[in-house]
Amino acid sequence: MAMDVRDKLFWVLGAARSGCAAGALLRRHGARVVGIDDQQEAALGRRWEQEGLTDLAPRAFDDLLTGGRRPELAPAPEAVIISPGVRPDHDLLAGLPDGVEVMGELELASRFCRAELVAITGTNGKSTTTAWCAHVLGHQGRRAEAVGNLGRPLALVADDLGPRDVAVVEVSSFQLESMRTFRPRAAAVLNLAPDHMDRYPDLAAYYAAKRIMASLVPAGGSLVVWTGCPEAMAWPTAGARVPYGDPDLGARVYERDGLLLARDAKGVAAAIMPVSELALPSPPNRINAQAVAALGLALGLQPQELAPGLKDFPGLPHRHQLVGRLGSVDFVNDSKATNVHAVCAGLRGYPRPVVLIAGGSGKGEDFSPLAEVMDAVGKVLVIGEEGPRIAAALGGVVSCEAAGTLEEAVARGARLAAEMDGATVLLSPACASFDMFANYRDRGRAFIAAVAGLGAEMTALT
Ligand code: ADP
Repeated sequence: MAMDVRDKLFWVLGAARSGCAAGALLRRHGARVVGIDDQQEAALGRRWEQEGLTDLAPRAFDDLLTGGRRPELAPAPEAVIISPGVRPDHDLLAGLPDGVEVMGELELASRFCRAELVAITGTNGKSTTTAWCAHVLGHQGRRAEAVGNLGRPLALVADDLGPRDVAVVEVSSFQLESMRTFRPRAAAVLNLAPDHMDRYPDLAAYYAAKRIMASLVPAGGSLVVWTGCPEAMAWPTAGARVPYGDPDLGARVYERDGLLLARDAKGVAAAIMPVSELALPSPPNRINAQAVAALGLALGLQPQELAPGLKDFPGLPHRHQLVGRLGSVDFVNDSKATNVHAVCAGLRGYPRPVVLIAGGSGKGEDFSPLAEVMDAVGKVLVIGEEGPRIAAALGGVVSCEAAGTLEEAVARGARLAAEMDGATVLLSPACASFDMFANYRDRGRAFIAAVAGLGAEMTALT
């Protein structure tokens, strides 16, 4: 039964993508919604245009308070819906009367959703695994929507889905913090590594937020965990644990002799498909494929039903995306690699020589682990605010040079790679993009435009 919100008052704090979707959902069900956004109206309007929200936004709010304006405290709202970007110490939350619930858009939307929920979190690989899982389920005739943190709010579709449908939801640590009644039939924790250290006091606090996922899985549900993540393997949960990775550590999905295999609770193994036929063959994506398979099994698919969607998933842009070729040089856009762990996973065992473009704005991360994955890297071109710190961390291991802009780095990288014979120019920044770009997508598009500007044969459009 959907939550009854008719004639009740809600505040939505943050009027961008998830806030607009939450407001529109509430209003479809008869609620009165006040949107609050600290940006000035003109800046917010530009954001709506950039993010394709100009149709949705006018339907989302009865009133919209911008530029620091605050709503009356009486009458108190039924609940406040916060966007993932809103810090928990926001002044509006501090001044709330007792008893007013504060929740994220996903928690709200799940209360209107009759579909089965699949939830995916982790430090890296969430978006890819979410989209891939929905793709695999879609192959089996289920309506499966990939939603959540990957840019499509659950609130857009929650009340349109039926009980036979599936919402595959990418969940960030920030979104987990406000979840209470969200109950995934299957949930995955992909991996844990330092990230968002600008937002959390320490690593333990970030991992504690991720751990909420295990506590949300109900009895009868499944918690899918990677054997390479000992923390998540040990988290208590009411659900059944479905590990993937190393069969000696109890994995139900794993690779052996070139095959992707699944074994049932009794230990009987069945082949899913040859690993070589996976749609995305890079090492981190081979592991993500196991997570997808484990989620599929947890939802009741048979091993052979997993193969079609694991074979023909097209991948997502800005994640190890081959965007163009110039002579023997490949250009790969991994703009979404915004932390050290993602870059390391992508570079370990890289099959070609690499000219790496890295740098951007920082999140307080330690760059020294990058030094351990430089085997294939012949040169690093650093950009942005964190360029000097990355160069300092890598200086003794590989030659580093600074470039003033991404475009300059691409042009210089192309010349250097041409001298290396069959090399790849890889944008994998290990940093956020906000010093030079609006977001990682904007940075990825700038990379693609720079590659196109060199006259490369393009495989991706900006
Ligand atoms: P997220 O949504 O968690 O940010 P994405 O699928 O968008 O994850 O990928 C983000 C970055 O992490 C990309 O650079 C990608 O190549 C890398 N990555 C993907 N899967 C993994 C994994 N299992 N382990 C480590 N890095 C990964």
